[in-house]
Amino acid sequence: MVPPLRKIGSNVWEIPRDYKPCMKVPARIFASDSLMEKMRNDLTLEQVANVACLPGIYKYSIALPDAHQGYGFPVGGVAAVDASSGAISPGGIGYDINCGVRVLRTDLKIDDVKPKLRELVDAIFKLAPAGVGETGHVKLQVGELDRVLNEGVAWAIGKGYGWSEDQERIEQNGSWDYADASKVSQRAKERGRGELGTIGSGNHFIEVQAVERIFDEKVAKAFGIDEVGQVLIMIHSGSRGLGHQVATDYIRIAEGKIRQWGLVLPDRELVSMPVNTREAQDYLHAMAAAANYAWTNRHLLMHWVREAFRSVFNKDPDKLGMRVVYDVAHNIAKLEEHDVEGQRRSVWVHRKGATRAFPAGRPEIPKVYRDIGQPVLIPGSMGTGSYILVGAATSMDLTFGTAPHGAGRQLSRSAAVRMLPPSKVKSALEGRGIVVRSAESEIISEEAPEAYKDVDSVVETADALGLARKVVRTRPIGVVKG
Ligand code: 5GP
Ligand code: MN
Ligand code: MN
Repeated sequence: MVPPLRKIGSNVWEIPRDYKPCMKVPARIFASDSLMEKMRNDLTLEQVANVACLPGIYKYSIALPDAHQGYGFPVGGVAAVDASSGAISPGGIGYDINCGVRVLRTDLKIDDVKPKLRELVDAIFKLAPAGVGETGHVKLQVGELDRVLNEGVAWAIGKGYGWSEDQERIEQNGSWDYADASKVSQRAKERGRGELGTIGSGNHFIEVQAVERIFDEKVAKAFGIDEVGQVLIMIHSGSRGLGHQVATDYIRIAEGKIRQWGLVLPDRELVSMPVNTREAQDYLHAMAAAANYAWTNRHLLMHWVREAFRSVFNKDPDKLGMRVVYDVAHNIAKLEEHDVEGQRRSVWVHRKGATRAFPAGRPEIPKVYRDIGQPVLIPGSMGTGSYILVGAATSMDLTFGTAPHGAGRQLSRSAAVRMLPPSKVKSALEGRGIVVRSAESEIISEEAPEAYKDVDSVVETADALGLARKVVRTRPIGVVKG
C-alpha cells in the first residue's frame, strides 16, 4: 500500500498521523514533484511513516530531498526525540557511524593540476588504500586504538598527522568528549585496528575538484574559496568496520530487550532503545567513540592527500594553501537544543544520510564560521558535480537545522552493474577529462553518475526551501573510488 500523501506547500508533503496506529506525529517529506516521483519507487515513504512511531519523537519524522530507502530509516532521514523520554534507534544513525565529508581548499588552479592529474590520482591511490579489507599505513600500538576512540583528531595531531589549526574547522574539533572506548566491543576494535586511514567501499572516495561556479562570493571567501577554477579536494569516508560492528553489536543487544521495554515496532529494523536505559547510554558512548574514529580516519586520509600533493608538486602542502574548509558527519545522532512548538527542548537528533546545517550564531559552529553559518558539504557523483552550501536560519524550524547529504541513489548496485558496463562508464568520464581509479572495476558501474539522482535538483530544492543556501558548485577532475 502506498502511504496517503498530501502536498501542503511548495516542495513540502505530509503523510498524516492516522496512516498507522503507531504514528506519534505526521511524516514530512521535503521534495520537488520530480524527486517525489523517485521516492515512490522504493520504500522511502513507508519508512518515513514508520520513523514517526519512534518513542518521544517531536514535530514530525523527516525525509529530505535526496531520501531513498535504507535500513529501517530512509537514508536522508531526520528524527528528533526527547532527550529523557525518547528512544534512540541505531538504524536511524546507520551502520557507517559518522560517515561524512571533509573538504580542503588549495591555492592551485585547474591548469596547474591538469598536466599532473594522472600522477596525482595514482599518488593518492597509493597512499590512501581503497576497497574493502585494505589496511592503512598507520600501525597502531596496543592501547592506542583506545586513544583514537576517546580523543579523535587530537590524538592524530599529537602524533604529527595534520596541523593543529585543522581542528578549528572540523565539527566538534573532531574530538567528542562523550566517547567511551570501553563501550566498544573487542570485535569492533579488531575490525578497526588496521583500517585507520583507508577509504573503504565504493561509495566512499577522494576527489580532486575544480570550482565551477560561485553563488555567494562573500561566504565562499570566508570558506577560503576565491575563484572559478580553484582546486578543492573532497574526502568521503566513515568509521569502516569498527562503526559497522558497533551498530551490529547494539542492534543485537536492543533486539533482545524489545519485549522487556514494551516497544511496538512497525518494522524490525527500527529497533530502538529508551534513552534512559543503560543500553542506550552505552550505545551513545560507543557511537561517539566510532565518530572519533571516523573523524580521525578522514584526518589521516587528508594527511596522505597532502603528502601526495607534496610529492607531485614538490612543494610543502602549507605553501600550496591546503587548508581544511570543513568536516561534517552525515550519519550521527547529536544532543541539541531546539524550539519545539514554542518550548525549548533538549533532543537527540538522528541524522542518517543528512547533514547538520546550522545558521550563524549557533554555539556548535566553529568560531571561525560562527558569524557566517556552517559549511554544508554535498557530494553529487564522480561524473556530475558537488556543492558547498551554508546553513540558513529557516532550516531550524523546518528540519531541526538539517540539509541533504548527497544526490541519493536512484539505481540499486545490482541494477547499475547490469545496465552500465565499467569500460563504458570509465571512457565516458575520461572523455570529459575525469580520471578515475578504483580498487575493483565493478565499483565503476555501481557508482556511475547515472546510479545517482540529479544533485542539481536536490540542491535547488534545498536552497528554495531554505534548508541551506548555495555557495559553490564544483566539478570532479580526478577520483579515487573505494
Ligand atoms: P552515502 O553517504 O549515502 O553513501 O553517499 C553520499 C552521497 O555521495 C551520495 O548520495 C552521492 O550523491 C555522492 N557520491 C557518491 N559517490 C561519489 C563520487 O565518487 N563523487 C562525488 N562527488 N559524489 C559521490
Ligand atoms: Mn559511508
Ligand atoms: Mn556517507
